[in-house]
Amino acid sequence: MARSAAIEKRLEENPESLRMLTGDRPTGALHIGHYFGSIRNRVKLQQSGAEIWQLIADYQVITDREMLGDIRGSVHSLTLDNIAAGLDPERATIFTHSAVPALNQLMLPFLSLVSVAELQRNPTVKDEAKTAGITSIGGLLLTYPVHQAADILFCKANVVPVGRDQLPHLEQTRVVARRFNERYGATFPEPDALLSEATLILGLDGTKMSKSKGNVIELRMTADETAKKLKGAKTDSDRVITYDPEHRPEVANLLLLISLCEGVAPELVAEEIGDGGGGALKKRLTEAINTELAPLRARRLELEGDAAYVADILRAGNARANEVAEATLDEVRERMGMVYT
Ligand code: ATP
Ligand code: MG
Repeated sequence: MARSAAIEKRLEENPESLRMLTGDRPTGALHIGHYFGSIRNRVKLQQSGAEIWQLIADYQVITDREMLGDIRGSVHSLTLDNIAAGLDPERATIFTHSAVPALNQLMLPFLSLVSVAELQRNPTVKDEAKTAGITSIGGLLLTYPVHQAADILFCKANVVPVGRDQLPHLEQTRVVARRFNERYGATFPEPDALLSEATLILGLDGTKMSKSKGNVIELRMTADETAKKLKGAKTDSDRVITYDPEHRPEVANLLLLISLCEGVAPELVAEEIGDGGGGALKKRLTEAINTELAPLRARRLELEGDAAYVADILRAGNARANEVAEATLDEVRERMGMVYT
C-alpha cells in the first residue's frame, strides 16, 4: 500500500517517469472487478501522460485449462472492453504476447534465476490451480509468474495497476529483475503495483469475481441484464444494512461498489439505506453501475461490429511490442556476453 501511495504521488508530480504495463487473460469478457481493480487506474495513468502498454495474455489462458476456447472472440472482446473503457489506441500499445517472440525468449534467462521451491510457494498459483480444480500443476502454470516477469520487463515497465491477487506475481517480477541486475549489471527496473481502493471485488456468489467462475457483471452487459444478475447477488439475513467488511463481506462489497460509482463513502451509503434491506441495496447498486457504465457500453456497441478496426489496433500494437522486445533481448544478450559476431 505504501509503495502504491508513492506511485500515486509520482503520478501527480512526474507522470512522464511512469511506464505502465498490465494485462488480462482472454478467458472471457472483462467485468466490474477489472474495471474498479485495474482499468480505472490504467485510464488515469494514460490521462496523466504515463506510457501505456496493455497486454492480452493469450498464452496464459492454457495455464489452468487444456483448450483455448474461442480465443479470437475473447481477444477481440478484451480489446474492445479496454478501448471502450478509455484506453486510446493512439497512445496505448495494445498487444498479444504470442505475437512477440523476443518477449517470450526472455523467459529462458529469467527461469535460471528462480528455484522450483520458490515457484511452488506462490499463493496465487495455488489458488488458481484450486479454482480450476487442477490436482497436478503443469509447467506453464508453475512458471506463470516468470512469464509475467518477461511480460512486464520486456518494455521495462515500472508500474503495474493490478488487483490483490497479482501481488505475489509482481513480487516475483521484482525478484527476477533484482537477480538479473545483480548477476549481469543494471538492466531492469523493479516495478511497483498500483492498487485501487478495490483490491478484490467479490462476485455474485461472494467469492472473488472471476471470468472463469461465471459470477460476474460483465462490462458489456445491458442495463437489464445487470439488474437481473444483481438481483441474484448473495447478501445475508440481517435486514439493516451496515458497512462491516469483516463480518458482512458480501454486503460490504455491494456498498463498496456503490461508493466507487457515486464517490460517496460506503458507511454513508449504508446509513442512507438503513433498514431498506438487501432489496434497496441492490436497486441502488443497479442504478449506480448502469449510470457509471453507460458511456462505456454505448462506445462498445459502436465499435463492436468493426472487426477490421480491432485487427488494425493489434497489428500496430504487436509491431511496436516486437520492436521494443527485440531491443531488450539484444541488450540482455549483450549483458550476458552472448554476442558472437
Ligand atoms: P480468470 O478467471 O480467467 O483468471 P480474472 O477475472 O481473474 O480471470 P485476469 O485476466 O486474471 O481476470 O485479471 C486481470 C486483472 O484484473 C488483474 O490485474 C487482476 O488483479 C484484476 N482483477 C481480476 N479480478 C479482480 C477482482 N475480482 N477484483 C479486483 N481486481 C481484479
Ligand atoms: Mg485471474
